[in-house]
Amino acid sequence: MAAAYDYIVVGSGAGGATVAKELSSAGKSVLLIEKGREMAPGTESKAYSVIKSGVEIWLAECLGGTTTVSMGNAVRSRIVRGLEPYFEEAERELGVVQMPLDRIGPVSRRMLELSEEWIMMPKCIDFSRCRSCGSCAYGCPHGAKWSSRRYLKEAESKGCKLLTGESVERLLLESGRVCGVELLKGKVYGSKGVVLAAGAIETPRILLRSGIAAGKGLFVDTFVTVGGVLVDSYLNKEVGMPFYLQEEGFLISPHYSSLLQKSLHKRGVACKPGDIVGFMVKIRDEPSGAVTLDGVEKVCTPADFEKLERGRSLAIRLLIELGVDEKTLVDSHLRGAHPGGTCCELVRSPDGPITDLEGLLISDASIIPGAFGLPPILTIIALAKRACSVELGRA
Ligand SMILES: Cc1cc2nc3c(=O)[nH]c(=O)nc-3n(C[C@H](O)[C@H](O)[C@H](O)COP(=O)(O)OP(=O)(O)OC[C@H]3O[C@@H](n4cnc5c(N)ncnc54)[C@H](O)[C@@H]3O)c2cc1C
Repeated sequence: MAAAYDYIVVGSGAGGATVAKELSSAGKSVLLIEKGREMAPGTESKAYSVIKSGVEIWLAECLGGTTTVSMGNAVRSRIVRGLEPYFEEAERELGVVQMPLDRIGPVSRRMLELSEEWIMMPKCIDFSRCRSCGSCAYGCPHGAKWSSRRYLKEAESKGCKLLTGESVERLLLESGRVCGVELLKGKVYGSKGVVLAAGAIETPRILLRSGIAAGKGLFVDTFVTVGGVLVDSYLNKEVGMPFYLQEEGFLISPHYSSLLQKSLHKRGVACKPGDIVGFMVKIRDEPSGAVTLDGVEKVCTPADFEKLERGRSLAIRLLIELGVDEKTLVDSHLRGAHPGGTCCELVRSPDGPITDLEGLLISDASIIPGAFGLPPILTIIALAKRACSVELGRA
């Protein structure tokens, strides 16, 4: 395989799809390479990749990347300055709306009444199509939730070529400049550059395989789901995370997890999925982890445990007020679904994803400069849009 494009984009998730759309809309010839395959809507959870480390890390490897299994939360962050115009553009394109009150399910409504502090979650969900099936994290079967596949469709209509089921091994360098990538089956070239957007675990690995240091500073927004039994409450059939409450270092939000039912069964408590209620306790963890060529190290630090404990206490208080039997309270194990930060050292400034290596751009969660403990898709998209503006000489 030997073909030449203006740009090669690696990965089709939040960062890669945005870049592919922006560059091909500007008339550039783009080849996007995605390791995973296209999945039928609603089956994307089969593409989950679960990485074992002290904190278990979840991501999806398919066309559309981890956006296909998102909860549809689309929150701005303030971690990088100057992104407001890009946030506005992204929110328009994604159709972001605040979670409508009349689409909040019965048990979430009761949770809403437990505090004045809740903030309604902005959602990239078309509620005229949403059936409140509670399946967001399995892949939306109704075409209601935005995923980056919508950007990919737009990119394709502007001439972008998609190559799925092919994994990028390493970068190709010529006279110190990145000029293409090597796949198992050959090489492809990008005369203007290569954009790495394989996510915060795989982007540093491509760099490491290319002889470039990367992979430190991993954060994941570590979370646990704390819950128990409330018979016939059916949180599992409601739109997840409809609102959240933020305190110093953590947030909590209504969340159903099938893991809680398994723990309860182990303890001999008979219950069905519709009997489980819970809150996700998600922290702004320290960037203490690291990605290596063959592993991921990510454990909770004492400061992380302290935040989790404060969040758990609040969640438990609210669950008891809701009527959950204290004897049925259980926690899921430590998980993380927002890996980021592993290529920050390579970007020229925390405000921009342009690296010092000529011809190399990085545009995914790996360049987010520190955990903000909130859903990152909107931030990744805004960063990608700004990177493209800079690359195209518009900013
Ligand atoms: C269950 C769950 C729910 C979530 N909910 C939300 C939410 O509601 N809101 C939110 O903002 N965030 C959410 N997130 C997090 C969010 O989805 C991710 O942070 C975001 O998608 C990361 O974007 P990315 O571009 O960095 O990587 P990804 O979206 O993961 O995309 C990376 C892509 O690169 C591909 N790839 C990897 N290696 C290679 C290679 N060598 N060659 C070619 N391709 C490769 C992968 O297959 C993948 O498709 C959720 C995550 C999970 C797991």
